[in-house]
Amino acid sequence: MHRFFLPEDCFTQSSVVITGKLVHQLRNVLRLKAGDHIIVLDNSGWEYDVRLKALGGDKIEAEIVSESPVTGEPRARITLYQALLKASNFEVVLQKCTEIGVAGFVPIVCERCVADEPNSGKLSRWQNIIREAAEQSQRGKLPVLHKVTSFTEACESISGLSLLPWEGEKLRGIGKVLRNYPRSGRALDVSIFIGPEGGFTQREVGFAQSHGIMPVSLGPRILRAETAGLVAAAIALYELGEMDGI
Ligand code: SAH
Repeated sequence: MHRFFLPEDCFTQSSVVITGKLVHQLRNVLRLKAGDHIIVLDNSGWEYDVRLKALGGDKIEAEIVSESPVTGEPRARITLYQALLKASNFEVVLQKCTEIGVAGFVPIVCERCVADEPNSGKLSRWQNIIREAAEQSQRGKLPVLHKVTSFTEACESISGLSLLPWEGEKLRGIGKVLRNYPRSGRALDVSIFIGPEGGFTQREVGFAQSHGIMPVSLGPRILRAETAGLVAAAIALYELGEMDGI
């Protein structure tokens, strides 16, 4: 069934009111009719099965038939600190990492970044990519897109387990670090830092280390910047037990 995140103010106790572009999509693109059901989400971790009423006007009202908690959300919260990337590569990272279960993205500006900072048009495009990927992959909460931050500020703001995949790290593998990290049954918050196309500078790696961020290896092959975040986040989610059956 089709799934859509809606703003909180669309919801009342027993119904939802759909406005804006989604009206066109439901009526003219998906050609849904009165009586058809869709799933809507309010970003609280719950999903609602709703029955559409008349689709004639510029608003569509739908009646909530049932509600249930979403099962797709990981307990572990992975935040990806991803250096800005050229062309559409940052968008690929947002889309794929949302699918696998990343909880938030912090775009970071590093010494070797060549990509421009996103303008407001690009940021809203990025939000749409995250929302569509979250709908498609049956997430219950939208990953948070944080504001663009400098690498140094990001390092100064972190807490908890923080890892910086770095091709210069030969000994400490990301999987082993996660497997050996003491957890005592709690869900874990993990921050993962990925560099730009040209990688992190030695100075950045040192600065991160001085803030308790641990350089880790993703193996002996060099991954492209848009691949590394997906691989690192997937390994983390796997090691934290988030990729087994439900
Ligand atoms: N230009 C660098 C590679 C940069 S790859 C070089 O040619 O050596 C972009 C980012 O992906 C890096 O900053 C790092 O965060 C990550 N990365 C890629 N391959 C990696 C590996 N094998 N181990 C750890 N991190 C890796």
